[in-house]
Amino acid sequence: MTDPLILRWQEVKARISTAEQAAGRPAGSVQLLAVSKTHPAEQLTQLYQAGQRAFGENYVQEMTTKAQQLALLEVDWHFIGPLQSNKAREVARTASWVHSLDRSKVAQLLHQHRPDELPPLQVCLQVNLDDETSKSGVKTWDELLALAQDVMALDRLQLRGLMSIPAPSPDPAQQRQAFARLRQLHEQLRAALEHPLDTLSMGMSADLEAAVAEGATIVRIGTDIFGARPPHTGSIPVIAEKQPT
Ligand SMILES: *Cc1c(COP(=O)(O)O)cnc(C)c1O
Repeated sequence: MTDPLILRWQEVKARISTAEQAAGRPAGSVQLLAVSKTHPAEQLTQLYQAGQRAFGENYVQEMTTKAQQLALLEVDWHFIGPLQSNKAREVARTASWVHSLDRSKVAQLLHQHRPDELPPLQVCLQVNLDDETSKSGVKTWDELLALAQDVMALDRLQLRGLMSIPAPSPDPAQQRQAFARLRQLHEQLRAALEHPLDTLSMGMSADLEAAVAEGATIVRIGTDIFGARPPHTGSIPVIAEKQPT
């Protein structure tokens, strides 16, 4: 009998395939990032054994603890939460990807602390599409361009694209509008930098289909794989206060 966790993971993968097809995009063009924050290492192991490699975490301490627990597995850790300067060192030593970079100072620190024996840290810049709803993310074009140029000058970082968490909306048309804005920014930035940006990290459990329709290359799915999250103890970033849908 298949475990409910594996069944939900397979369902999410099927939703991604269906959305790829509906958008006329090649099969496999959208990567599934399993957002495992607040869920125990045993569940990550179960998914790993089923074939999942990329896991997303929001809290540095939680990511490093799980990385130690799962040190024998070849997990790709994606850091997707708010990132403070004093945590940059740990992230640079543990993660393969950071989706939530929004400050040059943190970029410098990630570069400084990225160990030479590891490949460059893969980086997406977080964009704040709706000023009010989230504190994280770059808010203006000038700020975005400057940050992108700073990151490109750091050889232990590799700039891959953009990430955003738009204000939640139940309306698929509105969901698509927000993702379309991120896609347009991505194209504009690619043209301005003449740099091959290839990653759009957008779409969560409630808006995966809209994100794939607008060109997401990584979707970040927590609730629909792992179930509702228990409340996080410790400092709770804005995003964790969202009610599970
Ligand atoms: C928690 C989180 C997700 C996953 O959200 P779900 O709605 O549970 O799928 C995705 N991205 C970020 C940045 C998150 O913090």
